[in-house]
Amino acid sequence: MQVLKFGGSSVKNAENIRKVVAIVSDKVQQDTTVVVVSALGGITDLLLQCCKLAAENNDSYKESLREAEQRHLQTTRDLIPLNRQSSILSQVKTLCNEIEDICNGIYLLRELSERTKDRVVSYGELLSSQIIAEALRAELGGCEWKDSRELITTNSHFGSAAVDFAVTNKKIADYFTGHAARLFMMPGFIASDAQGVNTTLGRGGSDYTGAILAAALDADVLEIWTDVSGMMTADPRLVPNVRIIPQISYQEAMELSHFGAKVIYPPTIQPVRTKGIPTWIKNTFAPQDYGTIIQQTSTDTGSSIRGISSINHIALLSLEGSGMVGIPGFSKRLFEALASRKINVILITQSSSEHSICVGIDAAFASEARKAVDEMFGYEIETGKVDPLLVENDLAVVALVGDNMKNHSGISGRMFSALGRNGINVRAIAQGSSERNITAVISVNDVKKAINVLHEAFFETVYKEINLFVAGVGNVGGKLLEQICKQQAYLLEHMNLKLNVAGIANSSKMLVNDAGIDLDNWQAQLQAGQEMDISRYVALIRTRNLRNSVFADVTANETVAGFYDQLLEKSIAVVACNKVACSSGYAYYKKLKRLAAEYNTRFLFETNVGASLPIISTIGDLLRSGDHIHRMQAVLSGTLNFVFNHYDGKRSFASVVKQAQDEGYTEPDPRLDLSGKDVMRKIMILARESGEEMEMEEIANQSFMPASCMQGSVDDFYAAMEKEESHFRQLYDAAAANGSKLKFVATYEAVPGSKGRASVGLQPVSPGHDFYHLYGKDNIVLFYTDRYPEQPLVVKGAGAGADVTASGVFADIIRASRI
Ligand code: ADP
Ligand code: ASP
Ligand code: MG
Repeated sequence: MQVLKFGGSSVKNAENIRKVVAIVSDKVQQDTTVVVVSALGGITDLLLQCCKLAAENNDSYKESLREAEQRHLQTTRDLIPLNRQSSILSQVKTLCNEIEDICNGIYLLRELSERTKDRVVSYGELLSSQIIAEALRAELGGCEWKDSRELITTNSHFGSAAVDFAVTNKKIADYFTGHAARLFMMPGFIASDAQGVNTTLGRGGSDYTGAILAAALDADVLEIWTDVSGMMTADPRLVPNVRIIPQISYQEAMELSHFGAKVIYPPTIQPVRTKGIPTWIKNTFAPQDYGTIIQQTSTDTGSSIRGISSINHIALLSLEGSGMVGIPGFSKRLFEALASRKINVILITQSSSEHSICVGIDAAFASEARKAVDEMFGYEIETGKVDPLLVENDLAVVALVGDNMKNHSGISGRMFSALGRNGINVRAIAQGSSERNITAVISVNDVKKAINVLHEAFFETVYKEINLFVAGVGNVGGKLLEQICKQQAYLLEHMNLKLNVAGIANSSKMLVNDAGIDLDNWQAQLQAGQEMDISRYVALIRTRNLRNSVFADVTANETVAGFYDQLLEKSIAVVACNKVACSSGYAYYKKLKRLAAEYNTRFLFETNVGASLPIISTIGDLLRSGDHIHRMQAVLSGTLNFVFNHYDGKRSFASVVKQAQDEGYTEPDPRLDLSGKDVMRKIMILARESGEEMEMEEIANQSFMPASCMQGSVDDFYAAMEKEESHFRQLYDAAAANGSKLKFVATYEAVPGSKGRASVGLQPVSPGHDFYHLYGKDNIVLFYTDRYPEQPLVVKGAGAGADVTASGVFADIIRASRI
């Protein structure tokens, strides 16, 4: 004996039902078969809508009824051979007329009870099972239809009735003993109470019908045929890269479904588990796929977690009060109050202080729960022993499920740190003592992100997704996107990293796409994007709430830098090549560092100094390993290096500066470089990173630029430099006379017990010095530390240029994702 249940999507229309007929035709050759079907997909909802509209005295219930009737008539016509159509069509018509009569009654009375609702929705399964039975008869010759309401007896809890197994099992056994057919068809979901009044088993209840029959008949197997190829590691509608679970234990399946895995209705497991009946989840649209087998024990797949599920619409009820401590009976009364209103408790937590008890329930019952509980504790509330029930809405639960969790330590640590890293606040936690499940209550807005984050944390072979938002697509930003585009496939293949560029913005346009922007033609897409407004861009990034979000600031813009705090507060990592934030007031720099630590995210800006050279990370490594920095001496301006390496008096100084600008080695306004201001910012950032609290005003700058060059526009600046050519020539000649070269040097020196000193200025450098052989746009930093007292640690290399800067930003982005 085998029981096969086909869900709503499997029997949605004639085309799908033909697939069902083919599967049944094949199966029935092996054994006696009981087929259970749901209503045609969407019909239960449609019938409920008819009831609701009718009860609201809204005429349009008739349209919905007509739609329901049409779907059944059309399916019948498409499915059943012409010569057999007339009797089934008239049967469909009769049933639809009955629905209409009931709905007319609801409309006239403007009254809709749960009992009447159950009556109306039952027609969904009655109709589908009659039509499909006829299709099976047409194909196979015989199919015995039986009304489940005559076999399954429940209590009278309409909408979700409880089965009386003693009565039901006997009725089922009696019926099947008395009927010797090969193929039976029964409507799922519907039953009746002891008085013969129509009830239902709860939404999704056809699975349960299948399990009740399978258990009562001691079937060899129960098969749940649906529209996915098995039970998956998470809801496929929320997580794109889920995996099918080939084997799962009854307990695990029960936990996963209890916490929201819709693929199977939770009560389904109990009857089959008691009898040890293997239960398969199979795909009607891909019958050859293996599917999932649910049985007593599942094999160890190495992963401690079998799956992750979630339920939205949760309300958290907290009963609190000092009068509760140490006094027995409070929780009993709380649960009694809820039970009296038939409110199901999804999760329970109580802290050991006993000062509060917290339960999670379906949010639909929150106000009823409040009434019931406040009534129950009326006296205690009045006398101040407990507070009125605290109800919090808009919550959800996410649950990790796996039999093997009890054998692994560190799972909850991994779970909560993964959630924490993504700024997901956990409101309550519950872990069953079976250690088969850990549940966290979170905001409903965070569910999708949480499920994906957890899926990444526990199913390692699946890729991790980083969602990158870029601001600025000039020289460096453009190169960055080019590099990412080239590298995406490599990252996915070798690092299991899916780098999704979810947002791109420049000063005039912005473009956001959660699914990832196609980088082959981002320019055109950006052009067609929305008007740029940095505050809206940041707001979008925050509300998108994508996991592993990274914001990369490749602008030089002050306003953009002012938004980092808002991003970090949402655990969105910030990667900046923009120096403004780190060189602004010390308070903001410090605040950003603190926020990154507090919200468990990263604020990285390696490219603020020396493009992608490992300068800032070296300071970090030195300090973390216990070293102390005494002195840093550096040439940090690629621009000034370029200028002084190329200037030899044969061409004017101004023309060399112009060349540097044309080749992209200067800030948009070259005076920032020439004045030494940019170098001041850099040495200040290095000083701050090495632990010094320093502001710009505290850095001495011996500028070599005549004051006349630093006024007016950029054009004025070039003209003034031409006029001052003799000044520059003098500087050059003086150095050259000693065989020295000119370098713009930045120095920082720690002063024990007091404030450190920093200065920048032009210096002649003699041939023996580390700085002498510095070419092109090279930067160099010498670190003198406890461990490098005489011979410094030297970092040297190209310190400017779009390509290297972009690669430094890219590396920070990967680092920010904490692989
Ligand atoms: P049926 O109509 O066959 O009863 P359901 O819609 O009730 O089908 O259940 C199947 C759906 O459950 C799938 O289409 C899938 O979107 C959803 N689902 C949610 N969680 C899971 C999960 N963990 N594994 C598989 N499917 C899931
Ligand atoms: N038709 C019912 C529902 O939609 C039962 C089921 O499909 O399992 O909930
Ligand atoms: Mg279902």
